[in-house]
Amino acid sequence: MKRAKKKTITRVAAGAIAGLLAGLMLFGLVADLFFRVSASAASQSDVDALKDKLEDQAAEKKELQAELNSIDSEKATVKEQIEALDARINSTEEQIELQNDLIDSLEEMIAQKEEELVEARQKEEEQYEKFKTRVRVMYEQGETSYLEVLLSADDLSDFLSKYEIVSQIAEYDKNLFEELKALKEEIAQTKAELEEDRQQAENARKELEVSKSELDTQLANRSQAMKELESAAEEVKASFAEIEAEENSINAQIDKIVKEMEAEAERKRREEAAQGGGGSSSSGTTQVGNYTYPLPSGYRTVSSRFGYRNHPVTGRYKLHTGVDISAPNGTPIYAAQSGAVIIAGYSSAWGNYVVINHGNGITTLYAHMSKILTTKGATVSAGQQIGKVGSTGYSTGNHLHFEVRQNGSYQDAGRILGLY
Ligand SMILES: [Zn+2]
Repeated sequence: MKRAKKKTITRVAAGAIAGLLAGLMLFGLVADLFFRVSASAASQSDVDALKDKLEDQAAEKKELQAELNSIDSEKATVKEQIEALDARINSTEEQIELQNDLIDSLEEMIAQKEEELVEARQKEEEQYEKFKTRVRVMYEQGETSYLEVLLSADDLSDFLSKYEIVSQIAEYDKNLFEELKALKEEIAQTKAELEEDRQQAENARKELEVSKSELDTQLANRSQAMKELESAAEEVKASFAEIEAEENSINAQIDKIVKEMEAEAERKRREEAAQGGGGSSSSGTTQVGNYTYPLPSGYRTVSSRFGYRNHPVTGRYKLHTGVDISAPNGTPIYAAQSGAVIIAGYSSAWGNYVVINHGNGITTLYAHMSKILTTKGATVSAGQQIGKVGSTGYSTGNHLHFEVRQNGSYQDAGRILGLY
């Protein structure tokens, strides 16, 4: 299990490095492309190439995000392991503390028994001294021995009386000594048992200390694993940030090329207008299925598709509700179907914009116009000009934001117009 973890960490780190390398290689390609674009006339194929790069990068980011997710889930596992180890270490420490208390109280009891033993020995000693004194007194009085005492009897009656006394004294001394001996042995026995208990408690404490030290080792190992996962995550995040910076740079290049193309188209349009003596600026309308293409047919550059954009770092999704088609300022915008104009006005996001209700739950929206050429409430026919392309509202360049809704829900307008 330990080995499996290590392998995963290595894999993650390798993935991060691979991502980094891919990012650097991509940067080389893009820089190269940018140089080429700058050196020659801007063209749609350059934009397409840059957009391909953006797609590659999106895939790269997805992979990095997957790696980050897997690192995160490993981190969660390791965190759980660390918490479990912490709990076990705490309980082991508590048990060690209990054993220490037990050892302390056993030692107190042993010391007490030791004292009792000393007292018993003293008593025995005293008793022995008393006995000796008594014997000495008897000796000094001429009664050097029990035998002498007995033999000093005047008659049988005296002898029996003396014999009685002597044996009583002897019996008393004997009992006393035996009692003292028994007491001493009992204390020594208790003390030996307490010492055995203390030995067991010390063994138990030793075992607990060994297992605590093993747990400490495991904890150190898991903390190290956590550190490695965190640094792997940092690497992946760094690669991710690098790719995002790259994306910004590519998007800036695309904007630049698109602007150049628009300027070029505008220049040609003016040239033609000058030559044709103020003739129509468009080649008329084209039909795509049920819809009239909302711009002159030549303008088919999609600068932003319909759909959700995934921001893996923030985790936020944002819907682009229509399709953005690049066209020079002033290019005519046509009604996609006949209908009633329900909005013709200005908003900070859409700039000058028009919404047409076509019936059957279908509405279309045309945004960022430089000029509106219809009014709210007007009835328009399919292909009728309703405004001019511009860059009003939240817009970075001249384009038409075209949107189709059916029963209130957004449709992929780019697909409807056959743009992709
Ligand atoms: Zn748009």
